[in-house]
Amino acid sequence: MKLAKDFSTSISSFVNEVRTDALGNIIAHKHGSGKRIMLIAHQDVVSLMITHIDDNGFLYIKSAGGIDISLLPARKVVILHGENSITGIIGKKPIHLMKDDQIGKISLDNLWIDIGAKSKAEAKDLVSIGDYAYFCSEFENLPNDLITGSYFDDQVGLNVLMRVAEQIATEAVPWDIYFVASNYEEIGMRGATVAAQSIQPDVCICIDVTHATDYPTMNVISDGDIKLGDGCVLAKGPNIYSNLFSSLEKTALLHQIKYQIEVCTYPTGTDANVIQLSGQGVKTAVVSIPCRYMHTPYEVCSTKDIECAIHILYEFICEANFDYGNYRN
Ligand SMILES: [Zn+2]
Repeated sequence: MKLAKDFSTSISSFVNEVRTDALGNIIAHKHGSGKRIMLIAHQDVVSLMITHIDDNGFLYIKSAGGIDISLLPARKVVILHGENSITGIIGKKPIHLMKDDQIGKISLDNLWIDIGAKSKAEAKDLVSIGDYAYFCSEFENLPNDLITGSYFDDQVGLNVLMRVAEQIATEAVPWDIYFVASNYEEIGMRGATVAAQSIQPDVCICIDVTHATDYPTMNVISDGDIKLGDGCVLAKGPNIYSNLFSSLEKTALLHQIKYQIEVCTYPTGTDANVIQLSGQGVKTAVVSIPCRYMHTPYEVCSTKDIECAIHILYEFICEANFDYGNYRN
């Protein structure tokens, strides 16, 4: 995606080298002495794949990553075909013509992308089966430092990586640092699996979005208590090395950086899941940005929380106050 190209170009002036591996992971390396730290955010996004083109030029789709298909009807999407971007509308039978028992029932069998083609041949001149289609909502600012648009998961994480790289570009820090834009997180953390094997970090901090729970229908008891604007989120649980969590928390307290805590009793749904299990085991932590309506065309985040994530990572890397003591719960 364009985003990945932008990341590769933009981060190159802040690091010593940038490479792309066989899975499309972009690995930016700032040489240094000391332990290897990997900061990782994923570049891939949830999308739709074209699986069939019918005789009239309509395109049928399947989701690649967790998309709620009830959100798809009447969406504008953009299909990437080589260097071209093709506009499509996800079509659906109008309510006037539906039988009572059809109303409210949405499945991928009765949705299609309309690109305006009149025939299969014309459609095939523009797109191919296997092409990906993406949401294309406009980015907008909302009151109270909120922003909305598509694919904040995990563009905000990439933005954090870039800003941290920029801030420490000229500083001598006690780490050998790898900034990784991983690929294929949304379909099983495939990129992170390979990146962890090749880098073999001592410490890894994963930067991703997490669910905010400050809107109707959410339950703070079962869903956690995470609010937009209340700071970045530090995860706690078996996927997190507890001394690393404590160290990040200490950094936040010392520098008065707002943070919230989320409890993940199972492995997190992030790249940290597979990275922790790589090699001889990696000390992992997750720093998240709260997000409303994840994996929908209009995710909502707070710029304040993004700033908190950048600040905590910057201070943590500069200080390297990580206690390398034994594992403790
Ligand atoms: Zn994510």
